[in-house]
Amino acid sequence: MGDIFASVESEVRSYCREWDTVFDRAAGEWLYSEDGRKYIDFFSGAGALNYGHNNPLLLEPLIAYLRSGSVIHSLDMKTTAKRRFLEMFQELILVPRDLDYKVMFTGPTGTNSVEAALKLARKVTGRHHVLSFTNAFHGMTLGALAVTGNSMKRQGAGIPLNNTSSIPYDGFLNGQPDDLLWLRCALEDSGSGMDKPAAVIVETVQGEGGVRAARASWLRALSDLCRHHEVLLIVDDVQAGCGRTGTFFSFEEAGIQPDIVCMSKSLSGFGLPLAVTLFRPDLDIWKPGEHNGTFRGHNPAFVTGAAALENYWNGREFESQIAARAAQLHAGLATVAGKIEGSHVRGRGLLAGIYCPDAATARNVSAVSFASGLLVETSGPQGEVVKVMPPLTISAESMAYGLDILCEAVRSVTGELLDPMPRIHRREVTGVGTR
Ligand code: PMP
Repeated sequence: MGDIFASVESEVRSYCREWDTVFDRAAGEWLYSEDGRKYIDFFSGAGALNYGHNNPLLLEPLIAYLRSGSVIHSLDMKTTAKRRFLEMFQELILVPRDLDYKVMFTGPTGTNSVEAALKLARKVTGRHHVLSFTNAFHGMTLGALAVTGNSMKRQGAGIPLNNTSSIPYDGFLNGQPDDLLWLRCALEDSGSGMDKPAAVIVETVQGEGGVRAARASWLRALSDLCRHHEVLLIVDDVQAGCGRTGTFFSFEEAGIQPDIVCMSKSLSGFGLPLAVTLFRPDLDIWKPGEHNGTFRGHNPAFVTGAAALENYWNGREFESQIAARAAQLHAGLATVAGKIEGSHVRGRGLLAGIYCPDAATARNVSAVSFASGLLVETSGPQGEVVKVMPPLTISAESMAYGLDILCEAVRSVTGELLDPMPRIHRREVTGVGTR
């Protein structure tokens, strides 16, 4: 029969090249391949599986819903599942955080949410120009790609990506000068040559761009600057949101209130596609149906999304649990990074990584980890960061287990281990590409 994936699936496929096995079953932080190997998942569907695989607290209501004869597809019609999700989102997420946002259901992926945010910002302000940051990642459709930094992905567009400019993210200039100086001067000086932007779009932690975390003070300064110049602030919380950095929204630590927020990935909690764009009520100038789509809000995803909110965000206990696991992860990663010369730990909460001075080291650490039963991907412009994203629900024991494999992989790659890859099998480490 040969390899149907290689013979039929497009060359564009990526993760399956790095993790060349056929996965079959999954539970919590574990994935199982059809040949019987067990993998601990420090990837979590790139942030789409914050509550682990097949979480029973979400699975059971989903099965009950599917069995009950309820509505599965309904465009944006009113359904009981949608009502429950909106009620839970308002009661457990918006109200306790004193956030007043309208909820717009967009197409179900992160890039759909970003497209809606950009379109709305341009419509509200009547301006076309949008600022984004170095190493930003916002998605693959043309609008979102125009605010994405990665040159390989940008070239894939095949047409000029315009009406946007890229400006330095926190730390891009090593703080010399202050990374917001250019923006401040450009906004204040009418001779700067920069068209006044409709919006600035930012990730509080750049997941794909190399797990770079902006400082809370930098985010506050950016928010103040935008407000002062009546430029809308869009926070793309597609990856860093839903608890990944320790709080439901990643911007809570900075104490800012963005004008527009993009969410997707773990919003359904179960790996089912669901996305929203949130915005200040006074920005809600859409005409009915002006921005639509067939899959705006998917009822099974509403069911699991509401269950995730009820089970994990009803109170502060889950935040404490994430904080404990994050402290364990960062301590473990510091030990691991200590074994690679010139490396350091990056990130916030359970969106963390190890910067390696060269991409080959990161690539090999990821490959050896896989051979030893751990999924960790690489990120950053050259794939120089080992990106570590366990489920938020992971146990302390499983976290320690995964960190052990990572540590052994690093020792093997840096030559510290005489017998590398002891856990599962020896496997030639080739130069697998990053996404
Ligand atoms: N924004 C951010 C911050 C992301 O990390 C991603 C996906 N990695 C996207 C947008 C795009 O999401 P999707 O792949 O679901 O379109």
